[in-house]
Amino acid sequence: MLNIVLFGPPGAGKGTQASKLIDEYQLVHISTGDLFRMHIKEQTDLGKRVKELLDNGILVPDSITIDMLEEEVVKNPDAKGFIFDGFPRTVAQAEALDKFLVSKGSAISLVLQLDVNEDELKRRIAERKKVSGRADDDEEKLVKRIDEYFQKTVHVLPYYAEQSKLKVVNGIGVIDEIFAELCGAIDAAK
Ligand code: ADP
Repeated sequence: MLNIVLFGPPGAGKGTQASKLIDEYQLVHISTGDLFRMHIKEQTDLGKRVKELLDNGILVPDSITIDMLEEEVVKNPDAKGFIFDGFPRTVAQAEALDKFLVSKGSAISLVLQLDVNEDELKRRIAERKKVSGRADDDEEKLVKRIDEYFQKTVHVLPYYAEQSKLKVVNGIGVIDEIFAELCGAIDAAK
Protein backbone atom coordinates (compact mmCIF):
# COMPACT_ATOMS: atom_id res chain seq x y z
CA MET A 1 0.00 0.00 0.00
CA LEU A 2 1.11 3.52 -0.77
CA ASN A 3 0.12 5.79 2.09
CA ILE A 4 1.13 9.41 1.75
CA VAL A 5 0.74 12.30 4.14
CA LEU A 6 0.52 15.66 2.42
CA PHE A 7 1.74 18.20 4.90
CA GLY A 8 1.85 21.98 4.94
CA PRO A 9 0.28 25.13 6.34
CA PRO A 10 -3.10 26.51 5.20
CA GLY A 11 -2.75 27.70 1.63
CA ALA A 12 0.32 25.59 0.86
CA GLY A 13 -1.44 23.90 -2.06
CA LYS A 14 -2.26 20.55 -0.46
CA GLY A 15 -5.69 20.31 -2.07
CA THR A 16 -4.40 21.19 -5.54
CA GLN A 17 -1.56 18.69 -5.41
CA ALA A 18 -3.69 16.00 -3.74
CA SER A 19 -6.16 16.00 -6.62
CA LYS A 20 -3.32 15.54 -9.13
CA LEU A 21 -1.69 12.81 -7.04
CA ILE A 22 -4.85 10.73 -6.68
CA ASP A 23 -5.20 10.66 -10.47
CA GLU A 24 -1.58 9.70 -10.96
CA TYR A 25 -1.42 6.94 -8.31
CA GLN A 26 -5.10 5.92 -7.94
CA LEU A 27 -5.15 6.66 -4.26
CA VAL A 28 -8.08 7.51 -2.03
CA HIS A 29 -7.97 11.12 -0.88
CA ILE A 30 -8.93 11.81 2.73
CA SER A 31 -9.04 15.48 3.67
CA THR A 32 -10.15 15.98 7.26
CA GLY A 33 -10.99 19.63 6.49
CA ASP A 34 -13.28 18.54 3.61
CA LEU A 35 -14.88 15.88 5.82
CA PHE A 36 -15.60 18.36 8.60
CA ARG A 37 -17.05 20.86 6.12
CA MET A 38 -19.29 18.10 4.70
CA HIS A 39 -20.56 17.23 8.18
CA ILE A 40 -21.27 20.90 8.86
CA LYS A 41 -23.11 21.30 5.57
CA GLU A 42 -25.23 18.22 6.23
CA GLN A 43 -25.79 19.32 9.82
CA THR A 44 -24.83 15.98 11.31
CA ASP A 45 -24.20 15.68 15.07
CA LEU A 46 -20.49 15.79 14.40
CA GLY A 47 -20.96 18.84 12.18
CA LYS A 48 -22.82 20.66 14.94
CA ARG A 49 -20.05 19.88 17.42
CA VAL A 50 -17.22 21.16 15.24
CA LYS A 51 -18.77 24.12 13.40
CA GLU A 52 -17.64 26.80 15.81
CA LEU A 53 -14.10 25.44 15.93
CA LEU A 54 -13.77 25.42 12.15
CA ASP A 55 -15.31 28.87 11.82
CA ASN A 56 -12.63 30.15 14.16
CA GLY A 57 -9.68 28.24 12.75
CA ILE A 58 -9.18 26.17 15.90
CA LEU A 59 -8.14 22.52 15.72
CA VAL A 60 -10.86 19.97 16.42
CA PRO A 61 -10.02 17.71 19.43
CA ASP A 62 -7.85 14.73 18.53
CA SER A 63 -10.32 12.02 19.56
CA ILE A 64 -13.08 13.34 17.27
CA THR A 65 -10.67 13.80 14.38
CA ILE A 66 -9.01 10.41 14.75
CA ASP A 67 -12.35 8.55 14.96
CA MET A 68 -13.61 10.28 11.82
CA LEU A 69 -10.39 9.54 9.95
CA GLU A 70 -10.33 5.85 10.90
CA GLU A 71 -13.96 5.50 9.89
CA GLU A 72 -13.11 6.90 6.47
CA VAL A 73 -10.20 4.49 5.98
CA VAL A 74 -12.39 1.54 6.96
CA LYS A 75 -14.96 2.62 4.34
CA ASN A 76 -12.35 1.95 1.63
CA PRO A 77 -11.18 -1.64 2.17
CA ASP A 78 -10.05 -2.07 -1.44
CA ALA A 79 -7.94 1.10 -1.63
CA LYS A 80 -4.46 0.81 -3.14
CA GLY A 81 -3.42 3.47 -0.70
CA PHE A 82 -4.40 6.82 0.76
CA ILE A 83 -3.43 10.45 0.60
CA PHE A 84 -3.96 12.01 3.99
CA ASP A 85 -4.47 15.74 3.56
CA GLY A 86 -4.71 17.93 6.66
CA PHE A 87 -4.11 14.92 8.92
CA PRO A 88 -2.20 14.33 11.15
CA ARG A 89 -2.05 17.82 12.60
CA THR A 90 -0.79 16.87 16.06
CA VAL A 91 1.73 14.33 17.32
CA ALA A 92 -1.11 12.43 19.05
CA GLN A 93 -2.86 12.13 15.68
CA ALA A 94 0.37 10.93 14.03
CA GLU A 95 0.83 8.28 16.70
CA ALA A 96 -2.78 7.17 16.43
CA LEU A 97 -2.48 6.92 12.65
CA ASP A 98 0.66 4.77 12.89
CA LYS A 99 -0.98 2.46 15.40
CA PHE A 100 -4.11 2.17 13.29
CA LEU A 101 -2.19 1.43 10.08
CA VAL A 102 -0.06 -1.19 11.83
CA SER A 103 -3.27 -2.90 12.97
CA LYS A 104 -4.20 -3.10 9.27
CA GLY A 105 -0.77 -4.50 8.36
CA SER A 106 0.19 -1.23 6.73
CA ALA A 107 2.21 1.94 7.39
CA ILE A 108 2.88 5.49 6.20
CA SER A 109 5.14 5.33 3.16
CA LEU A 110 6.12 8.97 2.88
CA VAL A 111 5.36 12.43 4.24
CA LEU A 112 5.55 15.23 1.69
CA GLN A 113 5.90 18.69 3.20
CA LEU A 114 4.97 21.63 0.99
CA ASP A 115 7.16 24.46 2.16
CA VAL A 116 5.68 27.97 1.71
CA ASN A 117 6.53 31.12 3.67
CA GLU A 118 3.97 33.07 5.68
CA ASP A 119 3.72 36.11 3.36
CA GLU A 120 2.94 33.91 0.38
CA LEU A 121 0.34 31.96 2.40
CA LYS A 122 -1.51 35.13 3.34
CA ARG A 123 -1.44 36.37 -0.24
CA ARG A 124 -2.81 33.06 -1.57
CA ILE A 125 -5.61 32.79 0.94
CA ALA A 126 -6.70 36.38 0.31
CA GLU A 127 -7.03 35.35 -3.35
CA ARG A 128 -8.82 32.08 -2.49
CA LYS A 129 -11.30 33.89 -0.26
CA LYS A 130 -12.74 35.60 -3.33
CA VAL A 131 -13.98 32.27 -4.67
CA SER A 132 -14.02 29.82 -1.73
CA GLY A 133 -16.59 31.60 0.42
CA ARG A 134 -14.96 29.83 3.37
CA ALA A 135 -15.70 31.68 6.61
CA ASP A 136 -12.28 30.68 7.91
CA ASP A 137 -10.52 32.37 4.99
CA ASP A 138 -11.12 35.75 6.68
CA GLU A 139 -7.96 37.63 7.56
CA GLU A 140 -8.25 37.27 11.35
CA LYS A 141 -9.30 33.58 11.20
CA LEU A 142 -6.44 32.92 8.88
CA VAL A 143 -3.98 34.34 11.36
CA LYS A 144 -5.41 31.88 13.90
CA ARG A 145 -5.06 28.94 11.49
CA ILE A 146 -1.48 29.81 10.66
CA ASP A 147 -0.86 30.18 14.38
CA GLU A 148 -2.34 26.72 15.08
CA TYR A 149 -0.05 25.35 12.38
CA PHE A 150 3.10 26.86 13.87
CA GLN A 151 2.04 26.12 17.49
CA LYS A 152 0.79 22.56 17.16
CA THR A 153 1.16 21.08 13.73
CA VAL A 154 4.86 21.67 12.95
CA HIS A 155 5.74 19.32 15.82
CA VAL A 156 4.58 16.45 13.65
CA LEU A 157 7.54 17.04 11.32
CA PRO A 158 10.32 15.79 13.63
CA TYR A 159 8.13 12.75 14.40
CA TYR A 160 8.34 11.70 10.75
CA ALA A 161 11.88 12.98 10.21
CA GLU A 162 13.04 10.56 12.92
CA GLN A 163 11.48 7.74 10.93
CA SER A 164 13.27 9.02 7.77
CA LYS A 165 9.90 9.47 6.08
CA LEU A 166 9.94 13.23 5.58
CA LYS A 167 10.58 14.88 2.22
CA VAL A 168 10.44 18.68 1.98
CA VAL A 169 9.38 20.16 -1.34
CA ASN A 170 9.39 23.86 -2.21
CA GLY A 171 5.70 24.79 -2.52
CA ILE A 172 6.34 28.05 -4.37
CA GLY A 173 6.55 27.83 -8.13
CA VAL A 174 4.71 26.34 -11.09
CA ILE A 175 2.01 23.84 -10.02
CA ASP A 176 3.13 21.18 -12.52
CA GLU A 177 6.76 21.49 -11.51
CA ILE A 178 5.89 21.06 -7.84
CA PHE A 179 3.77 18.08 -8.83
CA ALA A 180 6.69 16.55 -10.76
CA GLU A 181 8.90 16.91 -7.73
CA LEU A 182 6.29 15.24 -5.50
CA CYS A 183 5.98 12.37 -7.99
CA GLY A 184 9.77 11.98 -8.04
CA ALA A 185 9.81 11.63 -4.27
CA ILE A 186 6.96 9.10 -4.31
CA ASP A 187 8.55 7.01 -7.06
CA ALA A 188 11.83 6.96 -5.14
CA ALA A 189 10.01 5.76 -2.00
CA LYS A 190 7.96 3.03 -3.71
P1 ADP B 1 -6.44 24.59 5.75
O1 ADP B 1 -6.62 25.29 4.43
O2 ADP B 1 -6.45 25.55 6.90
O3 ADP B 1 -5.29 23.65 5.76
P2 ADP B 1 -8.37 22.41 6.15
O4 ADP B 1 -9.46 22.34 5.18
O5 ADP B 1 -7.32 21.35 6.11
O6 ADP B 1 -7.77 23.85 5.96
O7 ADP B 1 -8.94 22.45 7.64
C1 ADP B 1 -9.92 23.39 8.03
C2 ADP B 1 -10.20 23.31 9.53
O8 ADP B 1 -10.67 21.98 9.87
C3 ADP B 1 -9.01 23.53 10.46
O9 ADP B 1 -8.75 24.91 10.69
C4 ADP B 1 -9.47 22.78 11.71
O10 ADP B 1 -10.44 23.54 12.42
C5 ADP B 1 -10.20 21.58 11.14
N1 ADP B 1 -9.29 20.42 10.96
C6 ADP B 1 -8.97 19.85 9.75
N2 ADP B 1 -8.14 18.81 9.93
C7 ADP B 1 -7.92 18.71 11.27
C8 ADP B 1 -7.13 17.85 12.08
N3 ADP B 1 -6.39 16.88 11.56
N4 ADP B 1 -7.16 18.04 13.43
C9 ADP B 1 -7.90 19.00 13.97
N5 ADP B 1 -8.65 19.86 13.28
C10 ADP B 1 -8.66 19.73 11.92
